[in-house]
Amino acid sequence: MKVVYFVVAILAVTSSVVSAYDPSPLQDFCVAVKEIDGVFVNGKFCKDPKLVKAEDFFEHVDPANTNNPLGSQVTPVFVDQLPGLNTLGIALARIDFAPKGLNPPHTHPRATEILIVLEGTLYVGFVSSNQDGNRLFTKVLNKGDVFVFPIGLIHFQLNVGYGNAVAIAGLSSQNPGTIIIANALLKATPPISGEVLTKAFQIDQNTLDYLLKQSWYDNN
Ligand code: MN
Repeated sequence: MKVVYFVVAILAVTSSVVSAYDPSPLQDFCVAVKEIDGVFVNGKFCKDPKLVKAEDFFEHVDPANTNNPLGSQVTPVFVDQLPGLNTLGIALARIDFAPKGLNPPHTHPRATEILIVLEGTLYVGFVSSNQDGNRLFTKVLNKGDVFVFPIGLIHFQLNVGYGNAVAIAGLSSQNPGTIIIANALLKATPPISGEVLTKAFQIDQNTLDYLLKQSWYDNN
């Protein structure tokens, strides 16, 4: 009997490890409604299922304007844009690139990303953790090519083609989160102490002052 309990315990542990990153839904849908003032939950409150309609599961995405310092623009379709995604553990983003446009090094704390190129040529990559030696994995992707960026790892996409580029990213969370590395460190509010940043990057105060003066555009 003890062996049976042990097997059940092992199954319980391993099955939770292989499940989706977001918690699994316990009903057909839980269309998000706005937070109740001062009450916060992990996810969003559910709309009355009887009032749910097709529009709750629908969103339209147009090509984005890439006329900005990065030459790229991300259009998220996360739970905040598409309330029907609540509890479903999935989201999407469209990424538009001007020639030489960059989606700068960033991470998604809650999602793995799978990206398909619809148009153009992208140089993409991610870096593994310190424990793995910070190895860089890169690839040049053309129309139809697909690449995966594992959850939490720093990654980027650069348009190396002659024209515009377009990609669609699937993300394994209703609310993946995005942390652009440079912006998070150099545009934090309130600012991170200069002593921390000069030591971390091994730069002097003048170099840090130069960096802090830049625009650090957020393309999300
Ligand atoms: Mn990404």
